Amino acid sequence: HAKAEGNKYLFFNNEMNKQAVKRLQIENLIRHGLKEDYFEVYYQPKTSLKSDQLVGMEALVRFITPKKGLISPNVFIPIAEETGQIIDIGDVVLRKACIDMKKWIDKGVIKGRVAVNLSARQFTLPDLTERIDNILLETGLSPHNLELEITEGTVMDNPKHAITIMHQLRERGIHLALDDFGTGYSSLSYLRKFPLNTLKIDKAFVDDCGTNIGKAMIDTIVTIARNLSLSTVAEGVETQEQKDLMTSMKCDSIQGYLYSKPLSAKEFSRFANKQNK
Ligand code: C2E
Ligand code: CA
Ligand code: CA
Ligand code: CA
Repeated sequence: HAKAEGNKYLFFNNEMNKQAVKRLQIENLIRHGLKEDYFEVYYQPKTSLKSDQLVGMEALVRFITPKKGLISPNVFIPIAEETGQIIDIGDVVLRKACIDMKKWIDKGVIKGRVAVNLSARQFTLPDLTERIDNILLETGLSPHNLELEITEGTVMDNPKHAITIMHQLRERGIHLALDDFGTGYSSLSYLRKFPLNTLKIDKAFVDDCGTNIGKAMIDTIVTIARNLSLSTVAEGVETQEQKDLMTSMKCDSIQGYLYSKPLSAKEFSRFANKQNK
């Protein structure tokens, strides 16, 4: 009996150990990647359902290492959040996205906004708005061409602080979208106080849009958005049926594999140029 217990303990310890080692490896890899510039930004088009026009895109980080290949954001972002490395990654992504967008605006490749994800950790930075101001100044991008995606979890962490920061960002003309809406806990009374422009309907709801409950959920979100004068964008739209449903429910725009997966800067400008023809 004692032996079995001992083994269990050993096993548990080994598992914990493996995880800790993995985390440390990724932390080191991120540090190396930041030094060697292994973080790239990909862009996923957002399309208006009314005009069928490209209205912007979401910037999504890609960690491309020479030895281990592509490492998914779902793997390294949570670790970077904990270690604080997400702050440096966030700066890199924002700077690259602003540089690319400025170039595309100047060339007439795209109008509208590039949407950049902000992590919870970035949102706690006391100098967040100054950092963003500096990057905009440095790259020459107008704040009107920038949107920030903030998750429900992030704003509900400290709603009072969130409201203050959000007002500072809005004053500059930056648009704000609430990401993964409906998956967290934000109460309707708070939602009204956040100076938002857009609600992003999470892919989980789009996946369920074939069911009555799923449809009712999306309908509710769109209705809430309309009452608060917010626009809606649905993410993860993969099929024509999903697109048709989003159209019938008066969702404003969609993003997903139906139109395009996230594209490298080069591929994206080709995509946008084709749309313009
Ligand atoms: P998210 O912000 O909800 O981003 C949407 C995710 O859904 C992206 O995954 C995108 O590639 C994926 N997606 C879009 N359309 C479809 C579709 O039609 N089908 C399917 N199956 N997936 C679709 P990705 O790029 O792997 O990013 C995962 C998450 O990592 C993001 O979720 C976001 O939370 C985080 N993330 C990505 N880039 C950044 C970044 O630059 N900064 C921060 N803080 N987080 C980021
Ligand atoms: Ca997002
Ligand atoms: Ca999302
Ligand atoms: Ca999501």
